[in-house]
Amino acid sequence: MSKKRIIVVGGGPAGMFAALQAAGDGHEVLLLEKNEILGRKLKITGGGRCNLTNIKDKKEHQRATIHNPKFLYKSFDMLNPKELMKYFEDRGCAFKLEKEGTVFPKSDDSTEIINILLKDLINHGVKIWYNHKVKSILTTEHRVRGVALTDDREVPAEAVIITTGGASYPQTGSTGDGYEMAVDLGHSIEKIKPALTSFELKETWVKTLAGISFTETSLRILSMKNLQQWGDLLLTHYGISGPPVLKLSSYINEINLKEAPATVEIDFFPDKTEEELKDWFLNQSSGRKNLGNMLTEFWPKKFIEEILPFLGIPKDRKMNELKKKERNKVINALKKLQLTVIGLRPVKDAIVTAGGVNVKEVNPSTMESKKVSGLYFAGEVLDLDAITGGYNLQIAFSTGYVAGLSAKEKLKQQHTGKRLETE
Ligand SMILES: Cc1cc2nc3c(=O)[nH]c(=O)nc-3n(C[C@H](O)[C@H](O)[C@H](O)COP(=O)(O)OP(=O)(O)OC[C@H]3O[C@@H](n4cnc5c(N)ncnc54)[C@H](O)[C@@H]3O)c2cc1C
Repeated sequence: MSKKRIIVVGGGPAGMFAALQAAGDGHEVLLLEKNEILGRKLKITGGGRCNLTNIKDKKEHQRATIHNPKFLYKSFDMLNPKELMKYFEDRGCAFKLEKEGTVFPKSDDSTEIINILLKDLINHGVKIWYNHKVKSILTTEHRVRGVALTDDREVPAEAVIITTGGASYPQTGSTGDGYEMAVDLGHSIEKIKPALTSFELKETWVKTLAGISFTETSLRILSMKNLQQWGDLLLTHYGISGPPVLKLSSYINEINLKEAPATVEIDFFPDKTEEELKDWFLNQSSGRKNLGNMLTEFWPKKFIEEILPFLGIPKDRKMNELKKKERNKVINALKKLQLTVIGLRPVKDAIVTAGGVNVKEVNPSTMESKKVSGLYFAGEVLDLDAITGGYNLQIAFSTGYVAGLSAKEKLKQQHTGKRLETE
């Protein structure tokens, strides 16, 4: 009799971890990856340094997860950040903590993470077929029986785990294939939207200043109470980017910005009050220096040259000629510059994909489909996304872990069940 088989579709973090947990017990685990390497997206995470996880507790991981945090309760308990780190530490990787609880390998090199996973897959006897793209999942009477490849070959299997990722950064292989596979099997897909992406602004003057950055700013979306993020801000050809923008994008992707633009308010100096800034202006008010030159204490010169006309203040205005109204306008721009968000960058440019396989149709304790027996999902293909900080990789590893273990367990039960029947 031929060996029983578990197939994992997609060799990203979720797929690699699922394959590792699924291995053992005498059955075959086959990892199918359409690229010629595993973990192409994992390699570029954290700017090539891989922000593997976040050391914060379960509550914070829940808070950082934008869609369906409750779905992750069980999988987080089964593999939390410390356990994930221990897995890599046991295999020689040392970690360091950076700001806001982020965890990176000390080597600052994502390939260390990938190499550990690859070596372990080989040690566990997982078969890897590179350059093999899965076209669809084969079923009989709501039960998995294998996969069909794009070259029309069929590979039989007792269980299939779909870990094809989202639709962001398609050049890494994540082209949303898993959504079609899921729909073919009767699953519904929550609308795909960009998350962790940059803002497109209406104000053209900002776009002429691409490359200029500001440290430690604070950003708020006016229509959304209590929605505020802090960090470095970058001006781009489209509008603005940087950590606070990416984080806010995950919340405002619900809004139809084309029809109802949002207002983002920028505080360039969150640790200074308007009163302190006013005092600064009053102290300088007797001088004949140019306002533009004086403002270089706060903003880069190029930015000043564009923002003063935007505020309707002559560039060569002398400090001792500055009107009270003009002074207030500058203070207001320093603390509450309002810009108009007319869109987000598309899904393909977003760091993660919001939306995906509806989690109501997946068992959160096993990651098994409620529609097809022996079918599992893990990682970004599911309707799960979190803000930056290592939370998304933790989601991929935790859900992959649960899917792999559950598939193995089910196979074992079927095997013992069958043996008992024939005994
Ligand atoms: C630039 C960038 C930086 C990021 N940095 C971080 C970070 O530092 N920390 C963090 O937590 N998150 C980060 N993320 C997000 C994180 O990388 C993803 O959430 C995570 O990789 C999702 O893992 P996954 O295994 O579900 O899917 P993916 O990593 O997308 O892997 C899916 C795999 O499936 C394969 N595949 C797809 N379709 C098929 C098919 N039909 N047949 C066979 N194979 C297929 C793909 O080729 C791919 O290898 C970053 C993302 C980007 C784009």
